[in-house]
Amino acid sequence: MTLRLYREDPYLLEFDATVVARTLHDGRPAVVLDRTAFYAESGGQPWDTGTLDGAPVVAVVEKDDQVLHVLGAPLVADRVRGRVDAERRRDHRQQHHGQHLLSRAFVDVAKARTLSFHLGAEVSSIDLDRELGAADIRAAELRTNEIVWEARPVRVRTVTRAEAEALGATAPDEAGDAVRLVEAEGFDLQPCGGTHPRSTAEVGVVLVLDHERYKSGSRVRFVCGHRAVGTVRERTDILARLSALLSAPLTELPAAAQRIAEGLLAAERRARDLLERALEGEARRLLAAAPGSPPVVVATYEGWPPADLRALALQVVGLTPCVALLASRADKAHLVFAQSDGLPFDVPALLRDALVLVGGRGGGRGNVAQGGGDGVEHLADALARAASIVRDGTSAAG
Ligand SMILES: [Zn+2]
Repeated sequence: MTLRLYREDPYLLEFDATVVARTLHDGRPAVVLDRTAFYAESGGQPWDTGTLDGAPVVAVVEKDDQVLHVLGAPLVADRVRGRVDAERRRDHRQQHHGQHLLSRAFVDVAKARTLSFHLGAEVSSIDLDRELGAADIRAAELRTNEIVWEARPVRVRTVTRAEAEALGATAPDEAGDAVRLVEAEGFDLQPCGGTHPRSTAEVGVVLVLDHERYKSGSRVRFVCGHRAVGTVRERTDILARLSALLSAPLTELPAAAQRIAEGLLAAERRARDLLERALEGEARRLLAAAPGSPPVVVATYEGWPPADLRALALQVVGLTPCVALLASRADKAHLVFAQSDGLPFDVPALLRDALVLVGGRGGGRGNVAQGGGDGVEHLADALARAASIVRDGTSAAG
């Protein structure tokens, strides 16, 4: 069984050890040592990284009660020097101990117990057994930071299961009879195998990012120490850019954003109104120039979106009993055919017939049909053909 040096000293970063077994893990070389300062992933805390005689340690996993050091390169020596990545170890001390304190604070301020903990690569989270409100979150965050700033000593000791229970710390079954306890003096005591700092002060600061309903409780996401500073720095930069873009000081950003949203809404209403009026004017102009009785309006536009073409067709057939055969020429050919209520033409059939020429697809029901195709060069022929069918129909009927 490997002697786990990090349990006694979570600040130990260099050590000498003997290779006692060699194996493969997921196709990569792996070794078991007689002693190690590398933490293997467990209890929500990820593994340490570093090197063994220069070979990168890319993962550390527990397998059948052994600590496997998974390597990025083969290792030949039997006596090796291990080096644990200092920044990652410090990061894990900050995040994991911050979690202990935050979990205790949620018990104290909201009687919410932590069900599970995940230390993520960027953000950590705890799942609690109660649904929490914003006030609970703020109170727990403040309480946690007070404990951090009081720089309370953190102590680790191993006791029997019965002793742990007498102290109010219930260990999971897999902990066996030797229970490792992590204590933040006068505040929190819990069984844990992770790497923790000597003082709560090392956590630096705890920043809750957000919380959400999760199952029948809450999920709280947070960052500690250097990650909290990084998050605040990133968000401060984003706010500064927004402040420059909106020409508003930081505290007035919400009001400025709301003004812009309202202005945009008003501008969109105005644009819709103007378009409606322009289309009505265009519809009247087309009708005034359209021959036939009922009039047959035929027109082609450059680059109009199908929605505008349809709106114009509806304006035209709404003004007076008539037939509208409209087209738009863009990267594709668009067609919108319509007739006023009470006129006898089969508009969808008329459109299908025209679409044969432009090689496209479309459809419709009753008095309106629309479609389009790639055959832009045949658009004029398609319109002329539809117009002649309608005119033949009206002269036959008349
Ligand atoms: Zn823990």
